[in-house]
Amino acid sequence: MTLVYFFDEGRGDWKALLGGKGANLAEMTRLGLPVPPGFTITTEACNAYHAARAMPAGLWDEVRAQLTRLEREAGRGFGHPDDPLLVSVRSGAKFSMPGMMDTILNLGLTDETVIGLASASGDERFAWDAYRRLVQMYGDVVAGVAKHEFEEALEDLKHARGVSSDAELGARDLMALTGTFKNIYRERAGHDFPQDPWTQLQGAVRAVFDSWNNRRAVTYRRLNGIPDDLGTAVNVQAMVFGNLGEDSGTGVGFTRDPNTGEPVPFGEFLMNAQGEDVVAGIRTPEPLDRLARLMPDVHRQLLVMTTLLEKEMRDLQDFEFTVERGRLFMLQTRAGKRSARASVRVAVDLAQERLITPGEAVCRVDPAVLDQLLHPRLDPDHGQPVLARGLPASPGAATGVAVFSSDEAARRGEHEAVILVTPETSPEDIHGLAAARGILTARGGMTSHAAVVARGMGKPAVVGAESLRMERGAARLTVEGVEVREGDLLTIDGTSGCVYAGAVRTLPATVDACLDELLGWTDKFRRGGVRANADTPEDARRAREFGAQGIGLCRTEHMFFGEDRLPHVRTMILTQDADEERGALEHLLEAQRSDFRDILLAMDGLPVTIRLLDPPLHEFLPSLEVLTARVAAAEARGDEGDEAQADRALLARVKAMHEVNPMMGLRGIRLGLTRPAITRMQVRAIAEATAELEREGRTPRPEIMIPLVGTATELALARAQVEAVLDEVRALGGAKLDIPIGTMIEVPRACVEAGEIARHADFFSFGTNDLTQLTFGYSRDDAQGKFIPHYLQAGILKDDPFATLDVDGVGALVRLAVAQARSVKPDLKFGVCGEHGGDPRSVRFFHEVGLDYVSCSPFRVPVARLASAQATIGEVTHSTK
Ligand code: ADP
Ligand code: MG
Ligand code: MG
Repeated sequence: MTLVYFFDEGRGDWKALLGGKGANLAEMTRLGLPVPPGFTITTEACNAYHAARAMPAGLWDEVRAQLTRLEREAGRGFGHPDDPLLVSVRSGAKFSMPGMMDTILNLGLTDETVIGLASASGDERFAWDAYRRLVQMYGDVVAGVAKHEFEEALEDLKHARGVSSDAELGARDLMALTGTFKNIYRERAGHDFPQDPWTQLQGAVRAVFDSWNNRRAVTYRRLNGIPDDLGTAVNVQAMVFGNLGEDSGTGVGFTRDPNTGEPVPFGEFLMNAQGEDVVAGIRTPEPLDRLARLMPDVHRQLLVMTTLLEKEMRDLQDFEFTVERGRLFMLQTRAGKRSARASVRVAVDLAQERLITPGEAVCRVDPAVLDQLLHPRLDPDHGQPVLARGLPASPGAATGVAVFSSDEAARRGEHEAVILVTPETSPEDIHGLAAARGILTARGGMTSHAAVVARGMGKPAVVGAESLRMERGAARLTVEGVEVREGDLLTIDGTSGCVYAGAVRTLPATVDACLDELLGWTDKFRRGGVRANADTPEDARRAREFGAQGIGLCRTEHMFFGEDRLPHVRTMILTQDADEERGALEHLLEAQRSDFRDILLAMDGLPVTIRLLDPPLHEFLPSLEVLTARVAAAEARGDEGDEAQADRALLARVKAMHEVNPMMGLRGIRLGLTRPAITRMQVRAIAEATAELEREGRTPRPEIMIPLVGTATELALARAQVEAVLDEVRALGGAKLDIPIGTMIEVPRACVEAGEIARHADFFSFGTNDLTQLTFGYSRDDAQGKFIPHYLQAGILKDDPFATLDVDGVGALVRLAVAQARSVKPDLKFGVCGEHGGDPRSVRFFHEVGLDYVSCSPFRVPVARLASAQATIGEVTHSTK
């Protein structure tokens, strides 16, 4: 087994073996791009090291052999006193984990070689600066010496010299500083900074392997669903220097704008700087356009190369480059992290440019990110004054309380929306970034750590808001004389870069042209239908706009509320008098007829599944508590008036109807069978509205759905009721009333007896909310607040079963029901109308089981369309987020 590959021996698609960084370095080398030579130690070597707690046999021999080749290609000797080869040691796993594990630069410098570097480069200051950086990075990463120890020594030196920036320190200062750093190293590490480059290299490789299991890498993997057993590769590469003067520099860029997705290259660079300086967010870098003016040739070359890279890789690239004395080197390329909006735009553009197919474009967008696009944005007319401005690093708006440290964000973020406000962020802040609703930093550019991570997580971020004044450790900021303290509300708009005090008004989301195009493609690939759950004509219209092919669940209970209806509903429930009941039902019939007419009209030509009344009747009555209090108060007053007497009578009725567990009480079909007048009224309203629309030449397509069926006999009886009314209305002449009658499957027993139930149904719609409650025996409202968070944390449940369908339990019942029903009635239609219909993973499952459609809330319809198309295409790529 080969453990080490020279860059030209590897391949771009060996990401599992060489890590993403190593594979792409190999690919760039193969394409003939100017990559400094180097080699990659495989992830298998890393895994073997962790398994055996020792370096695999033969590893160091292979490294030595490849190092010899590297020396030859670079024309320099590792540890050579006159013109030493220096290398970087860089980690790189299969999936990019930016900043999670450390890189060591300038490795190979010692007391001896630093002199050689000084004379070979003709720049003594540069040589000592490189050396002190090595001692610092090596001390931190390999020997575990706290970074701040070195940083404080640097600050002390600047103070003593009376200067404010590193750049003002001369060669002698940096030489002295290197001495100080080595002393710190010796004191803290317990041994001298290694003066043998080979020892340095061995230490660095081991540290990279070990870093696979450091806390922030583990956290990052957990947050991004990356398996723990992949291991990391190690890249050892000849150094090039961006800090050799004003004709040198280093930068990062994207082949397209990672925020908007616009096909314009985008990037930042720093003159006279070494690698980490750009991403660290310490100096604010300059836009790539400046490079075009300063070094037009280099800029042109860079664009040629990155365009080539994008063509070869067939995706937006995020690249790193360094210019050493006017010569361009490529140091990295990878699929760039992008905002939700950009992920859609880039996928659509790449397909239109014929770099990928429309099917690939559909698979490139993570359905979960559509959720972000369809979230509210700031109302442009909100009129609130801007408190501060920064760079629009990750789009979307967020309101939350200000917190000033990641620990605080993690703590408060558990139960409220927080905005994390810090000078800048580093990989140690990962838990705070994960907990925050939005991120605001005072420093750093569009490629700073905060910006990149926020975009990856799909959270709004504003970075580099330089007018913010913050002291480290103090829980407040001031800006233009305004003070914001911890716990004060802040709103950030990552789309514009604006920051506001307090909360700001938002508007509902809309589908833009680009998303519309992509969603249009999904419809070509998709086998399963997508409907919406909508109870009002307005929701129905929105659902249509979002591409719903019908309504999968129209609940009728809300139609019983409202001043013009509730009194009649109460009369209907309470009266003992047949005439009074008839009168009340007559009123409700009229109201319902127009409700159904409006909805059927809004969805003209598309199916609308109307569910008959589901909740227990006492939901329409005043609550027991309120009434009891009112009656007690009247009695205390000695009030014997009409109202007090009516209250007393009402209380008696409410008490009589009270149920210990209403969810399992008199509701759903049980209600329809015990109070058939209500069912008759609802069905008549549907039938008459349909007949009316048919006469007007419309195409109403109602479907009548009976809720909560548990036995076949129940459905047989309910169906007879419904058909009787349909026949009556039909008998009046003219109307076809071709109305399917079906049932919700939401009781475990119904799944088990699905074959028998199917005999009386034209369709099944799985009500996975109730089915989940009844299968687990959890009441959702209690479970989500009380114990599900604990269950998730303790690993008792893997997912919240109310968000993602429990495939093993509830899913097994769904499968069983489908199989039994199909065996009785092969052409029965199946849908699902629980919340799960809008969850991408659940949609995949429903697709696999062969349901005909999913139905979800209107805003999730695009998510379901995309998820369903991906399920059909059958390849869900790892999200590029
Ligand atoms: P990360 O994965 O965190 O981006 P990298 O391994 O890419 O870490 O390295 C960190 C920084 O060091 C980057 O800016 C990179 O460009 C720079 N760097 C890495 N290797 C070299 C090298 N051989 N010469 C010059 N700069 C380098
Ligand atoms: Mg990098
Ligand atoms: Mg239900």
